[in-house]
Amino acid sequence: MAYEELLENNGLTSAVLSGGTLAVHSPIDGAEVARVKTHTPEQAREIIAAGVAAFAAWRTVPAPRRGEFVRLLGNELRVQKEALASLVSMECGKILQEGLGEVQEMIDICDFAVGLSRQLYGLTMPSERPGHTMRELWQPMGVCGVISAFNFPVAVWSWNAALAMVCGNSVIWKPSEKTPLTALAVQNIFEKVATGFAEAPVGLSQILIGDSQIGAAMVASEDVPIISATGSTGMGRSVGRVVAARFGRCILELGGNNAMIVTPSADLQMALRAIVFSAVGTAGQRCTSLRRIIVHDSVYDELLTGLRKAYEGLAIGNPLDPAVLVGPLIDADSFERMQQALVTAVEQGGIVSGGQRVLAEQYPDGYYVQPALIEMPGQSDIVKTETFAPIVYAMKYSSFEDAVALQNDVPQGLSSCVFSGSIKETEHFLSPRGSDCGIANVNIGPSGAEIGGAFGGEKETGGGRESGSDAWKAYMRRQTVTVNYSDELPLAQGINFEV
Ligand code: NAD
Repeated sequence: MAYEELLENNGLTSAVLSGGTLAVHSPIDGAEVARVKTHTPEQAREIIAAGVAAFAAWRTVPAPRRGEFVRLLGNELRVQKEALASLVSMECGKILQEGLGEVQEMIDICDFAVGLSRQLYGLTMPSERPGHTMRELWQPMGVCGVISAFNFPVAVWSWNAALAMVCGNSVIWKPSEKTPLTALAVQNIFEKVATGFAEAPVGLSQILIGDSQIGAAMVASEDVPIISATGSTGMGRSVGRVVAARFGRCILELGGNNAMIVTPSADLQMALRAIVFSAVGTAGQRCTSLRRIIVHDSVYDELLTGLRKAYEGLAIGNPLDPAVLVGPLIDADSFERMQQALVTAVEQGGIVSGGQRVLAEQYPDGYYVQPALIEMPGQSDIVKTETFAPIVYAMKYSSFEDAVALQNDVPQGLSSCVFSGSIKETEHFLSPRGSDCGIANVNIGPSGAEIGGAFGGEKETGGGRESGSDAWKAYMRRQTVTVNYSDELPLAQGINFEV
């Protein structure tokens, strides 16, 4: 399908696609597909003011009605699923199956949020004073600023927006400057639903187009009490400091360096399939991509032989082709960073297979690579660094304690997994002595989370949680309430204070 058709199917007209300064390229072939207008700092201030006004109205709409709005949004996403997924593939280069999966996540989180809109429960506690009651309420916060990365160009907005909106907040979304078109397409879907919903105020969810500087303007604003930022650890360091300095609330979802431990009792065929999906899927450009395998000496050779064979057979190419499993890297810079990592790995004792550019003749401006498998003598600095590309480092271990120590000995703490048939090993992995990550899986790879669980990681991954479980609490303020229905005024702790 031609790019023009993909854009048109998402309601992106030439008025939106031209006349601006932000050039948008498809990683498939490097073609420039649009020049989008960016927002100025003055416009950012107006957008924030509109978000504040929208919040004032939206917080008074009963939560189940807010849920009804999100239900309608999910329905419209169902209608637009194919069209939006194809645009995701075109703009960020993930294969169509993964694009469809990403839009499905948007639908799933809408469904989750609908149920949540009737379950924003607070506790009641017994008061120590006679004739008193105590409870806690969860109140809306204000504008929720969402900053997203290129690799999940639409799902991240929905994880945040669906929850933020049922919680009574308004939303402002600063998408990656590499993927503004998918964001504009989602905004079209949102506007369509909002226009037909009487209680939805103007400015309920808005979009802010531009680079890190326009994102920084939103981050600095006192009128945006929540900043949910997804991207590199460097970005999180900067955003986290600014938000902390103004006592705002941050939800940080940053880089990962995810490992799999493969033990002697593992089902090696299952482990192999999980390794390939999580190491080469999205061309290694997921925050949860598998970057390290820690394999017991006794099964190392067998697993590595199988992996080399599987890697040789990988279909690499245009992500819109249904037979392809590995699409392109996002751009030339990403390719350069990958090549630099390969050189450094060799300097640090690594033996590299794969990693070279492929399809360069067919796509001179598209950056396709053969995924790399690197055998490392130990966990050197390059192994501890997140390179956002399909590189997996293989290391041997002999004692399970050492394997867990290796798995934890990196600055990041997003996702982890163990393949094992031994309950002693799997429970050790899940115990306080086990994985130190936000996600710990058994006999499943580290990527491909479901929306029902809280998603996020520790250490340099930022500590934020989004999506399922009780992640909604990050979008609300907790209010402790004590009511006196007696005729006396007793003080807590029995304090006597006669006036
Ligand atoms: P990036 O950090 O370059 O950019 C992410 C977003 O942050 C962009 O929208 C960018 O404009 C904005 N930004 C950058 N600096 C900013 C600043 N100082 N103030 C405000 N906004 C700023 O990341 P990327 O290359 O788009 O994405 C890849 C990274 O994202 C990887 O490290 C990956 O692991 C991480 N990621 C993490 C998760 C997660 O949930 N933990 C999910 C997806 C991606």
